[in-house]
Amino acid sequence: MSLNTSVAPAAVTFRSTITATLDTETVAGSDAKICKAARVSTVGAAAAETGEARGLINYLMKNRHGSPFEHAQLSFLVEAPIFVAREFMRHRVGWSYNETSGRYRELEPVFYMPPASRPLVQVGKAGEYSFEHGTHEQYDAVEHSFGVIYRAAYSHYQQMLGRGVAREVARSVLPVGTFTSFYATCNPRSLMHFLSLRTTSAWATFPSFPQEEIERVADDMEKAFSLHFPLTWEAYLDNGRVCP
Ligand SMILES: Cc1cc2nc3c(=O)[nH]c(=O)nc-3n(C[C@H](O)[C@H](O)[C@H](O)COP(=O)(O)OP(=O)(O)OC[C@H]3O[C@@H](n4cnc5c(N)ncnc54)[C@H](O)[C@@H]3O)c2cc1C
Repeated sequence: MSLNTSVAPAAVTFRSTITATLDTETVAGSDAKICKAARVSTVGAAAAETGEARGLINYLMKNRHGSPFEHAQLSFLVEAPIFVAREFMRHRVGWSYNETSGRYRELEPVFYMPPASRPLVQVGKAGEYSFEHGTHEQYDAVEHSFGVIYRAAYSHYQQMLGRGVAREVARSVLPVGTFTSFYATCNPRSLMHFLSLRTTSAWATFPSFPQEEIERVADDMEKAFSLHFPLTWEAYLDNGRVCP
């Protein structure tokens, strides 16, 4: 018996927004806690509660006394395509991850579509390039090809599931533009290291050139960081975005 391989394209959702949402209930610590952790070495625990914070944090940052910045926690829900999650999870130190499983649940038909504002064309040679906006024709080609492949891939995924193939096997056909979600929990020090590599800034002592999609995630995280740890964030900026 031959298999009918023709599969109707599936209905899928295109998503252009990539987000990191702070889980506010799990934020632990503050600028004050960082100061307390630092002062235990100089004045002892009993007196560590009091004292000036801005100058101390700036001193720690400038002189790269990093460990006091590990005594706090931020946890984010990241919703991003699989290729962004792959880049993200290269950050090993001071990070904990838990991600949606493609073995235990059916993956949803949500796929990344670059927004019209996303530059499409790489100009220049390796290590010395920039990105420019594409033509209308190039944007149309991206939209068309992404759409065709996403619909076909998801149809085949569902067809295999319908035939009793295990999720962990069938998922292989889904592309890296498929959305995933994961919790990423870090401390201010590991977050600053991440931000120094995954954001672009003219003020950075060591400029980095991350892919735009992971930078969207980093931007959300930096906003949350600036609100909950304002003095630490300010000192990070004042010291060239160098992680202590
Ligand atoms: C713009 C950009 C382009 C990239 N391109 C590529 C690419 O083409 N291919 C590719 O494979 N990766 C690429 N990466 C990923 C990169 O190589 C790092 O894996 C990623 O940025 C995480 O950095 P990290 O190792 O410093 O972070 P973490 O894993 O969080 O480590 C933090 C720090 O801990 C220390 N550390 C951690 N592990 C060790 C260890 N085993 N030994 C000694 N010290 C350690 C180091 O000081 C390190 O900086 C790219 C990253 C960026 C930002």
